[in-house]
Amino acid sequence: MRRDSFSLLRESMRWRVALVLAVLVTVLMVALGTLNTRLGLQDTALLAWMVLGVSASCTVALLVLPRGIGGTIFFTAIAALLVGAVAFGYEHGRPMQHWAYILPPVLIFLMRSSRALVGMVIYGVYVSWVTSALVPLIEVVRFASGYGLLVCFMYTYALLQERAAAMLRYHSDHDALSNCFNRRTFNEAIAGLTASGGDRRCTFLLIDIDHFKAINDQHGHLVGDRVITQVAAELGRVLDPGVPLFRYGGEEFAIMLADADEGTGLALAERLRVAIAGSDFVGVLVMVSIGVAEWRANQGSVAAALGRADRALYAAKRSGRNRVVGDSASATVPIAERVEA
Ligand code: GH3
Ligand code: MG
Ligand code: MG
Repeated sequence: MRRDSFSLLRESMRWRVALVLAVLVTVLMVALGTLNTRLGLQDTALLAWMVLGVSASCTVALLVLPRGIGGTIFFTAIAALLVGAVAFGYEHGRPMQHWAYILPPVLIFLMRSSRALVGMVIYGVYVSWVTSALVPLIEVVRFASGYGLLVCFMYTYALLQERAAAMLRYHSDHDALSNCFNRRTFNEAIAGLTASGGDRRCTFLLIDIDHFKAINDQHGHLVGDRVITQVAAELGRVLDPGVPLFRYGGEEFAIMLADADEGTGLALAERLRVAIAGSDFVGVLVMVSIGVAEWRANQGSVAAALGRADRALYAAKRSGRNRVVGDSASATVPIAERVEA
């Protein structure tokens, strides 16, 4: 899963819920352990003390481990306890199906809805089977009916939540006009690049539509909007799947070529320029200028590399537009070698 602001938010929320639940289970088990001991129910008292040990350990794990790992450990431990408690009940002749209703929400916190559904169904069959050895059949039917309905509701809720989150994520990551990634996603990618450090490198392409203001003025803003959409689509057609295209500003796009040098970036930029110049924009002459610059983790900041790409872009504008210019003058594509559109 991508570690963007959505997954971090989910991880953080799950951690908070886990911490509250871990404390709640710890307090509950102290109460149940004490009550069962007073009632002389040594076996269920023992079970409560065992769960207390696990929940107290989970609380410590949640406080000392990274949030993502702590949350996973807690919900996995609770799921394992729910499987174990039913087996424990079988050994001691005590039906434990009332605890089974906790597993569906626990699985929803742990995994995707489809996998959680499989887990819920298998667990339901397991609990029904174990319980059938301890209680009359009608009790098993009652349990299975209630549990089955709970599974239906939980799965539907989880599926809806998953779809809504995916839709929300798409709209927050993408630009509505061009359908490519938006500036917010670009900023996140830059932050990720800066944090990754090491000996990483990346080449930036800044693409700007030439004389776009004139297109708006001559053909109207609606046509201008259509041109932005079509330019994004044409650029996307040339790019390999997995190479992200960002709308950087009004009529500017950016590409981040991971682990690529400036030469690779220049070659791609030239293919993009030719593709745009050769596309049919229905009566509108559309061309782009592209600035290319390479960033290396150990040679300055990402912002500085973007600044160099921007300078190269404006050099392309100054030298006549509809062309590609690289950051290092020697890497600039010579006019004679450029593929004519
Ligand atoms: P250059 O070749 O130097 O890049 O010139 P230009 O005219 O393309 O650049 P300039 O920055 O002067 O104008 C960009 C214009 O793009 C100005 C702005 O109104 C227009 N614009 C920005 N976003 C949108 C948009 O979403 N839709 C439309 N239709 N126009 C936009
Ligand atoms: Mg511009
Ligand atoms: Mg422009």
